[in-house]
Amino acid sequence: RAKTEGKDCYAVFNSNMQLAALNRLQIENDLREAIKQEQLCLYYQPIIELMSGHLSGFEALIRWQHPTKGLIYPDEFIPIAEETGLINPIGWWVIQQACYQLKCWEKEHPKGLKLSINVNLSAQQLKQKGLVEKIGDLLTETKIEGNRLKLEITESCLLETVTIEAQRVNQIKELGIGLCIDDFGTGYSSLSRLYEFPIDTLKIDRSFIRRLEFSQTAIVQIIVSLAHTLGINVVAEGIETLEQLNHLQGLGCELGQGYLFSKPVDSAKANQLLHNYNSEGNRGGFI
Ligand code: C2E
Ligand code: MG
Ligand code: MG
Ligand code: MG
Repeated sequence: RAKTEGKDCYAVFNSNMQLAALNRLQIENDLREAIKQEQLCLYYQPIIELMSGHLSGFEALIRWQHPTKGLIYPDEFIPIAEETGLINPIGWWVIQQACYQLKCWEKEHPKGLKLSINVNLSAQQLKQKGLVEKIGDLLTETKIEGNRLKLEITESCLLETVTIEAQRVNQIKELGIGLCIDDFGTGYSSLSRLYEFPIDTLKIDRSFIRRLEFSQTAIVQIIVSLAHTLGINVVAEGIETLEQLNHLQGLGCELGQGYLFSKPVDSAKANQLLHNYNSEGNRGGFI
């Protein structure tokens, strides 16, 4: 009896694996179509100045409007895009789209609006020849000052870089573009290696912000003071409660994003948010 049970287990395990593999293959094939059929879109999450409540900019986050599966989130397809090399055309599309969107907002809200846009970059994208030149041309074409575009790279991606990619990071910097370390604190990095890169901003990973709720403030405090000692900005990721916000204000963390202010929204809703934040006296109601 045990034997047959064992067999069944094996069969179930096997078919689950087959399903997973099939699903992957389907996503990979669909993803190739997605680019051509314009099924990818960007959502935007506001980044807020925690002391004043002003809107500092948006982080662009990719979504996939799949014809049959509905809205798919990046964790489900970015890893596949990275493994198949599709991340390069997709990532380039994201950078272009984000810059054009910034241009649109500027047209609609001409009153001295100085927003920035954050774009996530995969390690793979740094391996591309000509990436920096392409970004440089795009900035010229759209007349966007380099410092209004910020590229987010995770700590582990940055630490995996070899010389040529590190040079590219420096060339990106020479265009005036901001460099953010995403998910900071989760990468087991040696802090000394971070000195090798021209970093502007540390984004404290959501897991540490969550712990503020239990008065575990030490790590956030250390990251904030490390950043300030190095003369760079800090953004707290995933602020969900007023209590977390109060802690962060007390620790002198200058920027933040999270569901407390807004979830990532489509471009029409982001436009609406811009109107709200721009109108006199409206600070989103939290600060
Ligand atoms: P990330 O860059 O660390 O982005 C933050 C993620 O946290 C986003 O998930 C965002 O929706 C979510 N988030 C923001 N505030 C809160 C909050 O208060 N609570 C909670 N629970 N979550 C919050 P999303 O959009 O699903 O993106 C996941 C990851 O996918 C991103 O993490 C980023 O690493 C990657 N990603 C997104 N767009 C792109 C892209 O265009 N290119 C690349 N290479 N990666 C991307
Ligand atoms: Mg990010
Ligand atoms: Mg992050
Ligand atoms: Mg992340």
